[in-house]
Amino acid sequence: MFQPPPCLICRSTRTARLFSHQGYEICRCRGCGHHWAVGDGPKDYRREPSRLEFYKAQEAPHRALMRKNLRLVAPWIRSGGKILDFGCGSGFFTLEARLAGFDSQGVDLAEWVTDAAAHWQIPLHVGRIEHAGHAPESFDAVVAIVSMEHLPDPLAMTGTLARLIRPGGVFAVLSVPHVGGLPWKLLGERWWDLDPPMHLQWFSRRSIRSLCEQNGLRVRKVRTTGVGYAFFATLAGRGRQGRSALDDLQYEVNSGESAPQGGLRTLLSRAAVPFANSLLNLTRLGNNLTVIAVKE
Ligand SMILES: [Zn+2]
Repeated sequence: MFQPPPCLICRSTRTARLFSHQGYEICRCRGCGHHWAVGDGPKDYRREPSRLEFYKAQEAPHRALMRKNLRLVAPWIRSGGKILDFGCGSGFFTLEARLAGFDSQGVDLAEWVTDAAAHWQIPLHVGRIEHAGHAPESFDAVVAIVSMEHLPDPLAMTGTLARLIRPGGVFAVLSVPHVGGLPWKLLGERWWDLDPPMHLQWFSRRSIRSLCEQNGLRVRKVRTTGVGYAFFATLAGRGRQGRSALDDLQYEVNSGESAPQGGLRTLLSRAAVPFANSLLNLTRLGNNLTVIAVKE
């Protein structure tokens, strides 16, 4: 009989197993509402197949998305400030932040990121952040864009990242999957973000706040964002069509905007998706959480 461990975030023992999914036990904390997967551990991202060609083909919409992320966080960072793009992937956030005058650099586990760094001529470090040799309190900001949900121990990693931020500096999570959102509530096991071992963590507003505050990061802003085409596609039974479909949807899910491709998608992108997003964000039922926290 599987015994759920204490909560990864708040350490409460008031935890429960919800169900098994893709070989992992999905657990829930009754204290802070956090959900996480227990199983064989994280996916090994080091040797994942190169996504460089995908990002080269999708450069324009992904860079637009990263400019949107930059607009969310830039007002909190001093002009020209030093930024760490944690889990940088393509490096598009690092690139856009550099074009905006920030001293940004990325870090990622995946070896193909070396090729992205060479292609776009930007500083991206491949390897664990603990081994990158950064001095404590040497960054004005750490930005984690769709990264924290991949971690086996987000509390410990947030501690590591918090030590790199100077007092008064910023920790920005843009974004993580939200278990208080309508897609999880309605779709349950069919939720596209319930995807272990890709994703191992699903946050509540309380759990993301606890994650920050246990590490000396005072939360200044929490909001829910987006639902996008994936919601409608999954409801209509068209989700989970393999990795390429999910890749295609990632942009739309995180941006809250659809990239029209004709027919139903055009209709959704012009009317239903923006309307649903506005409504969900107002009611804090959006699919993702974004957080801005300041180091004390
Ligand atoms: Zn908890």
